[in-house]
Amino acid sequence: MSNGVNSHSSKIAKSALIVPLVQPGVEQMLSAMHQAAQMGADMVECRLDYLTDPPTHQELENLMKNRPEGIGIIATCRPTRQGGKFTGNENDRINILSSAAQAGADYIDIEMDVPESNWPDGKIILSHHDFTSKPANLQEIFNKLDASRASVNKIVFKATCPEDAIEALNLIGKSAKPTIALAMGEPGLMSRILAAKFNAFGTFAAMEKGLESAPGQPTVDEMKTLYRWDAINSETLVYGVIGCPIAHSMSPAVHNAAFADKGINAVYLPLRIEAGGENFNRFMDAAIAADWLSLRGLSVTIPHKENAIAYLGEENCDELSRQIGAINTIAIAPDGSLRGINTDYAAAIDALCSAMRIKPAELASREVAVIGAGGVARAIVAALAHYKAKITIYNRTFQRAEKLAKEFGCLALPLEKVEQISHEIVINCTSIGMFPNIDESVLTEQVLSRVRVVFDTVYNPPRTRLLELAEQVGCLTVSGVEMFVNQAAGQFEFWLGVPAPRQLIKKTILDRLNIAS
Ligand code: NAP
Repeated sequence: MSNGVNSHSSKIAKSALIVPLVQPGVEQMLSAMHQAAQMGADMVECRLDYLTDPPTHQELENLMKNRPEGIGIIATCRPTRQGGKFTGNENDRINILSSAAQAGADYIDIEMDVPESNWPDGKIILSHHDFTSKPANLQEIFNKLDASRASVNKIVFKATCPEDAIEALNLIGKSAKPTIALAMGEPGLMSRILAAKFNAFGTFAAMEKGLESAPGQPTVDEMKTLYRWDAINSETLVYGVIGCPIAHSMSPAVHNAAFADKGINAVYLPLRIEAGGENFNRFMDAAIAADWLSLRGLSVTIPHKENAIAYLGEENCDELSRQIGAINTIAIAPDGSLRGINTDYAAAIDALCSAMRIKPAELASREVAVIGAGGVARAIVAALAHYKAKITIYNRTFQRAEKLAKEFGCLALPLEKVEQISHEIVINCTSIGMFPNIDESVLTEQVLSRVRVVFDTVYNPPRTRLLELAEQVGCLTVSGVEMFVNQAAGQFEFWLGVPAPRQLIKKTILDRLNIAS
């Protein structure tokens, strides 16, 4: 691949964190500018098309003169044809931008369909926006931008998948001059965060939720606190979580905090990939071909765990993952070779055994009731069977329980029969009791009084109703949070070969749960 990570590091010292100002009045815009500077913005984009009334030259001078020290200003007055709010005539629009340039704006954003004879004096950001899709002639458009006499290229389009974000990032590397290339929407998030890795001219971040100027813009706080914007450079390694939906995944918070704690130059991103093996495969092919991306590891969640093992091939995964038929972790070597594991089963077994103070081998012959027959139940049943526990599977859809039981040599019963449970260990692998249905419990106190150990894989809330009841009747209890911590720590250790900061991972999860619930 010709695109080198550092191919244009000389073009610009450091990517700018640019905050769009979308206030309806000039005074409000000025005060927002000061707030943005305090939050750590390098530049602001004054969206003059958001002003209720066209600004006077005097107002624009006030805006530019009273800027906070060190803040760069881009003046933009986007017409509706390019996704902006300006509805007046083109002459008036160009006059506003010329006035902003004379008043002292550092850069003027001009759409590429404006004839060069109409460009205001000053440094031009020549832009093209497509809010509906990735233009079929993306490269052609970009070549025109790059060949122009403008100071900065800007191309922004709507992404349907993370591969679109990879294409945007690739344009930055190929450009002859400073470039902003962004893929909008949730699947394009990678292009916004990795702008710093590829020395883009800048990336946009909203001051707060609701003040975005384009879909998918993170907030300044998310960029700095969650995605480690200030620590990203050309050497930063890339990790991420593949899933759909993915917006509420706690994994980015967990892994980015762990990288920061261990001083590892890496960033972890959410990667929304729609269901379907073909979508998973297309992303993997593109990500591996883009070796300049330095993608080194992936977490995989619903609905792609089976697609992941199919893509890697069973020979590249561990034995128990093969039996489970699903992996949740992929390591990518610099030469593009892949290895996969499933950290879910070991996470569950470790959580259970450390609470019981036994070794996994001591699970042999113990009676375990597994409630549920979905993905998590499958991983846990495979591991329990491996350690020769005596397993009974209970499930609402009985055929699913029967199928799983047949595969791993266990007993299957319908969910109604949980009333008869008198096993030493019970593991809930259903979503019963999960937020928001926090008052539900799959077992009654009466049943629980016959059980010694209760493990609830549900982690939101950390203390489920099932665990509360189990505690009341004197059972040893294990929270799904322990399993969650173990699976994240297992991924971190698989990728990096160093011990994970488990306490920090647990704290990050619990902090996030308090916010979410
Ligand atoms: P899944 O594949 O969708 O399976 C869901 C299971 O729950 C199925 O057995 C389903 O029964 C059962 N179920 C759902 N709603 C039910 C209801 N109202 N009444 C009775 N049974 C019900 O999901 P999964 O990936 O296995 O996840 C299961 C749970 O594990 C999640 O809810 C989550 O809380 C927990 N989890 C924990 C961790 C962790 O690290 N601690 C990680 C992932 C998941 P049917 O077959 O009849 O539909």
